[in-house]
Amino acid sequence: MTTTTDLEGTHFSGTLIGGTWIPPEKGHAQPVHDPADGSVISEIADASVEDCLAAVESASSTLPAWSAATPRERAGVLRRAFDLMHAERDVIARLIVRENGKLLADALGEVDYAAEFFQWFAEEAVRVGGDFRLAPNADKRIIVTSQPIGVAVLITPWNFPAAMATRKIGPALAAGCTVVLKPAGETPLTAAYLADLLSRAGAPDGVVNVVTPSDPGPAVSAMLHHPAVRKLSFTGSTEVGRILLHEAADQVISCSMELGGNAPFLVMADADVADAVDGAMVAKMRNGGAACTAANRFYVHRSVAEEFTRLLTGRMQELVAGPGDDPDSGVGAMVSDAERDKIAELVELAVEEGAEVLTGGLRHVGAGAFYPSTVLTGVSHGDTITRREIFGPVVAITVFDTDDEAVDWANDTDMGLIAYVYSADLARAVRIADRLESGMVAINRGVASEPAAPFGGMKQSGLGREGGHVGIAEFLETKYLAVPV
Ligand code: NAP
Repeated sequence: MTTTTDLEGTHFSGTLIGGTWIPPEKGHAQPVHDPADGSVISEIADASVEDCLAAVESASSTLPAWSAATPRERAGVLRRAFDLMHAERDVIARLIVRENGKLLADALGEVDYAAEFFQWFAEEAVRVGGDFRLAPNADKRIIVTSQPIGVAVLITPWNFPAAMATRKIGPALAAGCTVVLKPAGETPLTAAYLADLLSRAGAPDGVVNVVTPSDPGPAVSAMLHHPAVRKLSFTGSTEVGRILLHEAADQVISCSMELGGNAPFLVMADADVADAVDGAMVAKMRNGGAACTAANRFYVHRSVAEEFTRLLTGRMQELVAGPGDDPDSGVGAMVSDAERDKIAELVELAVEEGAEVLTGGLRHVGAGAFYPSTVLTGVSHGDTITRREIFGPVVAITVFDTDDEAVDWANDTDMGLIAYVYSADLARAVRIADRLESGMVAINRGVASEPAAPFGGMKQSGLGREGGHVGIAEFLETKYLAVPV
């Protein structure tokens, strides 16, 4: 077994309260696995409810000093964190590969994307604006300012262990909030690494706390009932998000929710098919398909469906599943055997419902949470696979005949995070994008995520936005001062 000291960056115990790492005690430790071979790579503390409340207390007692730090000082910490992430890019990426299973190239891309949130919010920290005007009847002046909302609980999923954390920590710290981060159980080591990195960048003890409870329900519930907590920023499934919205209601806590997706990928009759295939490979296969933004439903016009399917199947066949740090691997491990099995079951169900497997589709047996790159055709809109998030390397193709049909099918879901449109006619693509019920639309592109742009979904894909100019506003409270004329 690899010990905690063998793996660079994992000597942190997972739970960090007020600058002190809580050691994993005998009987209260949890293993962290490498999904590529099932081995235990580290052990972290199992944070108790009391530990989680102590982390909130620590964030609360540090809040006055941190919120009083000048915007320039807070920006400096984030900027140094950005520099450190770049200097330590390879170490962080390899850590992500070990605990998450993704390809090294994807992990390196994630580190760059994650670091950019520190840089972007370092720049935003010094640009928080306000408003000033005379009241319409001239009886007073209206001054509108912002102040940090308070202690923020941040909860992140396993699929982007670095980026989902920095996308929340960056704006929270820039706004002057202190935080308690609860990373996913599968990927706590990257979060721990980032907390240490922020400390080295100059974040005072207690500004960033991390908790790793093995049973998140009671621990998070206790934190959301602590009177100091004023913000919940959650990224994860809609199912868990809904539970947390109920929990947050008791204390009327401000919530930002980045939830599930079910992205449609529309290939219109006039699309450049080769371009669409390039985009489809990125939209589907970035992160092995384990992205909330992953293209989940491919709606392809009948006139180009045969060519698109043939070219895409050829590309998917080239991707062999294997360990993330093996340069020959085209798709890494899923994060766990359970995730791999969920994908396999969804594909088996699709076949029972009439889909045809053009490549892949076979359940992997043996060590490692691998699932082969898979293409399904003959999928009908409404089949189970078009209703659920696949979260794996599986393309499901459905043929459509009219633009209206494509838009209606794309919108026929409770989710609304992102959609993709391919058309040679940009004006037509924008008209279609206007009709799509999703927070983001990528036009003739396979990826839209960008720290400088607002990321988030409509309908049950979430509430609020991360990144862009609005990202910091999620951690600010608006205050209006009525001032005599
Ligand atoms: P998940 O099961 O909802 O878990 C997300 C986080 O919530 C984890 O830290 C998890 O902790 C925690 N959690 C689980 N049950 C909880 C409870 N009862 N109370 C409090 N916290 C709880 O999601 P996941 O499987 O990790 O991630 C995949 C999902 O995230 C997908 O639906 C994907 O679309 C979504 N996602 C959305 C975005 C976006 O920006 N919209 C980005 C990435 C992912 P444990 O790990 O300890 O259980």
